[in-house]
Amino acid sequence: MATLKIEGLRAAVGGKEILKGIDLTVASGEVHAVMGPNGAGKSTLSAVVMGKPGYEVLAGTVTLDGVDVLGMPTWQRAVAGLHLVLQYPTEVPGVQLDAVLAEAFASRERSTDGLDDLIKAEAGRINFDERFLTRSLNVDLSGGEKKRNETLQLATLAPKIAILDELDSGLDIDALRDCARRVEDMSNDDEQPLGVLAITHYSRLLDELKPDFVHILADGRIVETGGAELAATLESDGYGAFAPATDAADASASALADLF
Ligand code: ADP
Ligand code: MG
Repeated sequence: MATLKIEGLRAAVGGKEILKGIDLTVASGEVHAVMGPNGAGKSTLSAVVMGKPGYEVLAGTVTLDGVDVLGMPTWQRAVAGLHLVLQYPTEVPGVQLDAVLAEAFASRERSTDGLDDLIKAEAGRINFDERFLTRSLNVDLSGGEKKRNETLQLATLAPKIAILDELDSGLDIDALRDCARRVEDMSNDDEQPLGVLAITHYSRLLDELKPDFVHILADGRIVETGGAELAATLESDGYGAFAPATDAADASASALADLF
């Protein structure tokens, strides 16, 4: 069993504070959805946890099973068991998927015996056409095929904790169902249930990937936490009710207060 623990995390990018104190704990088998409007800091959160260059941690800690990960380079975080499913999967001309996964297995000191069969079986489970397996990674793939490809890598690597940054963006309904179901199955695995931090705008992802917790991220803070019903409330009411006071609203309120 594994636990990703984020405590008091504050981070800046381009000299601007984006994450303003995030507390979040994800354990094996749990599905946490993080929902929030554009620009709330969702992708920043995933980038900081995985160690994407250019982000400055101002305060707080991120640990996996009690071990600090903020001091690790990204590859070491991945070897330790963290995995990021990218919002915009990168095209890598000249590099095939099986080579990427073989390399990843090697760095985890896992045997690559049977890897080809495992990749094919996983491709079948999510209806990912086998002819893409021998193509350059993500090159000339549709949005949906790229996300199936990301899901295939996730399922083959079987990390401890996965962060999905808008797995649902650029996906048609069929691909969304296939990918979300596979992740849901992983979270219910008997031997090594995946812990999931699923970042999303829309509750439709959560029709297949059942969240135990839903968190609303607005302006760099988690402003509300609830169960699956919170996603349904958002779908009908929008984010407005949960948005923190903006600087402009604060300024006009204090200007008014000065008048009276
Ligand atoms: P979300 O994923 O919730 O839509 P992001 O985490 O991508 O939001 O962005 C949060 C805020 O950080 C936005 O205002 C965005 O413009 C800003 N931001 C993100 N990356 C950078 C960057 N590299 N330089 C400057 N500002 C950035
Ligand atoms: Mg984003």
